[in-house]
Amino acid sequence: MKQYIIIGNGVAAAGCIEGIRSIDKDGKITVISEENHPVYCRPLISYYLENKTDPERMNYRSADFYDKMNCDVFYGKKVIRIDAYSKKIVLDDDTKLPYTEICVATGSSPFVPPIEGLDTVEKKFGFMTLDDTFALEKAIDKDSNVLIVGEIGRAHVLSDLSVPKVFTIVWKVLRFVILPTVYFPVFLTPTAPLLCKDI
Ligand SMILES: Cc1cc2nc3c(=O)[nH]c(=O)nc-3n(C[C@H](O)[C@H](O)[C@H](O)COP(=O)(O)OP(=O)(O)OC[C@H]3O[C@@H](n4cnc5c(N)ncnc54)[C@H](O)[C@@H]3O)c2cc1C
Repeated sequence: MKQYIIIGNGVAAAGCIEGIRSIDKDGKITVISEENHPVYCRPLISYYLENKTDPERMNYRSADFYDKMNCDVFYGKKVIRIDAYSKKIVLDDDTKLPYTEICVATGSSPFVPPIEGLDTVEKKFGFMTLDDTFALEKAIDKDSNVLIVGEIGRAHVLSDLSVPKVFTIVWKVLRFVILPTVYFPVFLTPTAPLLCKDI
């Protein structure tokens, strides 16, 4: 019997699970998910922030998807090593799991360009995950000043949230090269003007 390991739990992983099950009903499928959520529609995180959707409606698949597909999911775990010799993967809690087949569906992660002064900004967030948007939601109030660095497509979301001052900087070169992994909003703090002084 095959032992499939899928690293990541995004839409690519969901497609991989369905693909495997279309040809192999019996193999053991194990999904390792760094995020603590079942597969959700990542592009909707800004809509969540706008109160136009909720986590339940953001789910890409039904609540019983993983059961129906007969696969195990390890939530909140990260694969830190693939040992191709022993055919095992190693998780960040040192758990080792055997595999015969492996699918790396780890997506991308935000690239933060080096910026002088960024380390002095207390409240800074990426905008890639549901947890990022939960953290933003918690941090924003009507007095927040927000600096958004990178992609501006959904920047208006923050102005819709009654945030009085929103500054947007677009990294013109990077924007075209690395999108969509470059965008991350940064909250202004008393020291954050350091970031803006040369702009
Ligand atoms: C705000 C936003 C808006 C977007 N809008 C659009 C859009 O309108 N149209 C469009 O086509 N695309 C859009 N995208 C891009 C789209 O969401 C991605 O292309 C898509 O999610 C990629 O799917 P994926 O399964 O390959 O990777 P991901 O969705 O990135 O999933 C990969 C998963 O793997 C996990 N992972 C990574 N490393 C490990 C590890 N070592 N161990 C365990 N787990 C790991 C990650 O935590 C993540 O959960 C948007 C993205 C964002 C952030």
